[in-house]
Amino acid sequence: MTPTRRRLLTTGLAAGATLGLGPVLKAPALRAQNRLNVVATTGMIADAARFILGDAGEVRALMGPGVDPHAFRQTRSDIVAMTRADLTLWHGLYLEAQMEEFLLNLARRRSVVPVADRIDPALLLSHPDYDGRFDPHVWMAPEIWSHVVASIADALQEAQPDLAPTFEARATEYRDTVAALHAYASDVLSTVPEDSRVLVTAHDAFSYFGRAYGFEVLGIQGISTESEAGLNRIRDLVDTLVTRRIGAVFVETSVSDRNMRALIEGAAARGHKVTIGGELYSDAMGEPGTYEGTYPGMIDHNVTTIARALGGTAPEKGRIGQLGAAG
Ligand SMILES: [Zn+2]
Repeated sequence: MTPTRRRLLTTGLAAGATLGLGPVLKAPALRAQNRLNVVATTGMIADAARFILGDAGEVRALMGPGVDPHAFRQTRSDIVAMTRADLTLWHGLYLEAQMEEFLLNLARRRSVVPVADRIDPALLLSHPDYDGRFDPHVWMAPEIWSHVVASIADALQEAQPDLAPTFEARATEYRDTVAALHAYASDVLSTVPEDSRVLVTAHDAFSYFGRAYGFEVLGIQGISTESEAGLNRIRDLVDTLVTRRIGAVFVETSVSDRNMRALIEGAAARGHKVTIGGELYSDAMGEPGTYEGTYPGMIDHNVTTIARALGGTAPEKGRIGQLGAAG
């Protein structure tokens, strides 16, 4: 039992009142004051935590659609939420660069867990522009994200040991979906002609994706969107697009497309037509309440969009026919 449980007498009751009736858990019904109150920084972490918790608690994601985690700074209401939560789950690996100091401070008094920090370093990638740190974008490779889901389940079990078996079973179910996403991605991305396996994006969020599925990845900006893309970088990429006849580039929902337009115009000035292959969810998921607003939907969308834009074959509506359908 954590020392924070008393606080739930106020926050947990309020959360229970607004949630209404959820699916019936196989575990004994929880009194409202025992419901876990969890805060997650990114939508991807929140999606797994929500699924594992079921109606045993509530998860608030601080970063919504289109929010850039490299630049995100907590608001006053975020601080209140994290201070009152039974558990705060953050990514770590310096993804939340502007929040890290706050989170490390909070960890001295509250349960605060960086869920990607426990990944075996042998699985992680470094980057020449990111001295001494690992690339944080591990959700892009479902096989690696599966380890993070296990960390999320561990943290929830520690916060609510009575429900550990239930959480364990639900985490296994979620990880099965993540494994199915990896299988789908391997399948459809292998249909892209080898010469076309080049992914040009706004920032370097796709290195794990590239390693997992055999794509060369070229970001205009580095790993963090906080770095400026220099004119030299844009000129070099225009050269690459023109000489290698790359016909499609991708914009990202959480990064400005200003640099991407410069790239397309630069190639056009040299007589090479480049189109936008689609919009990818790099560091944030889609709108809540849509399939793309879930982690499986986000990855399905990216994989399906990339395969189709680069000459491969993938079903228009994705792995389970849900892409583009509201709700
Ligand atoms: Zn990023």
